[in-house]
Amino acid sequence: MKRRTAIATALTLGLAAYMPFAGAADQGSVGISMPTKSSARWIDDGNNMVKVLQQRGYKTDLQYADDDIPNQLAQIENMVTKGVKVLVIASIDGTTLTDVLQKAHDKGVKIIAYDRLIRNSGNVDYYTTFDNFQVGVLQATSLTDALKLKDGKGPFNIELFGGSPDDNNAFFFYNGAMSVLDPYIKSGKLVVRSKQMGMDKVGTLRWDGAVAQARMDNLLSAFYGKDKVNAVLSPYDGLSIGILSSLKGVGYCTAQQPCPFVSGQDAEVPSVKSMLRGEQYSTIFKDTRELAKVTADLIDAVLKGKQPTINDTKTYNNGVKVVPSYLLKPVLVDKNNWKQVLIGSGYYKEEQFK
Ligand code: BGC
Repeated sequence: MKRRTAIATALTLGLAAYMPFAGAADQGSVGISMPTKSSARWIDDGNNMVKVLQQRGYKTDLQYADDDIPNQLAQIENMVTKGVKVLVIASIDGTTLTDVLQKAHDKGVKIIAYDRLIRNSGNVDYYTTFDNFQVGVLQATSLTDALKLKDGKGPFNIELFGGSPDDNNAFFFYNGAMSVLDPYIKSGKLVVRSKQMGMDKVGTLRWDGAVAQARMDNLLSAFYGKDKVNAVLSPYDGLSIGILSSLKGVGYCTAQQPCPFVSGQDAEVPSVKSMLRGEQYSTIFKDTRELAKVTADLIDAVLKGKQPTINDTKTYNNGVKVVPSYLLKPVLVDKNNWKQVLIGSGYYKEEQFK
């Protein structure tokens, strides 16, 4: 008997160690509002958030808004009506949520901006994201390294693409990238033949790959004939795929005319495959499992009245206040380290790339 009790106790302790929140009393419900299913990263974000929150005893309400702003507003309103304690929101347009967030705040709901900053609202309690400026720095550095600009090579032609102008992140990516590219543009080692620079000229509404492809078509026909483009700054894999289709359409990515160096972001499977074929040059890995975990830690702390862990209190001014943030580190991925980073971390399985 005694032995059995001991085993039972050991088992319980062991299980408790693995599932610290299993069987915890109902912690209340968390609304998770995601922008779109058209990109794999947001599907991963949603799934990871649900998994980690459910393990900790929360109920979850996960909604995707199809990149439609009224849709996202209605979904969030509905979550508030249903009585969620916390809202985790990756916004489509981070300026459109002010009214619904006021209602939520008045009901005592805690509000976390997830990955994308929500602007124009004093009711955003916290922000969890990656170091978005650093994302741009890494993207641009991968291009300048590939072109060997530090070794004095050049001049080379480059064209620039930005993300969606209604997404605060797009400006951080662009500014981070330009902090690296600008000195080379000024010294003439990088030439933007189209002269299209600045987010007002290079932004890509709703991160739409078809829009980027059409703009690349225009750039190639207007500014590149005999002269070739050597690098393209692209802030997101979905745009890189469009840009590369355009390039391939006019004879790049062949033995005679190799692809220019094209950056990306999110380490999505089609882009990693493109990298392995020698087309896209690099991407950025953002571990959405980690983002879900730090967001869940923050929710736990806030609901228990504890001080949550944050690591940035100055970068993210949303127009009303500086939102206390937790920033994770983005990782540059290219042909050389993709296995170690993407497979080694368990994020993907090697079969996915065969
Ligand atoms: C995210 C990026 C993503 C982009 C397009 C940004 O807000 O931070 O990871 O590539 O949206 O979905």
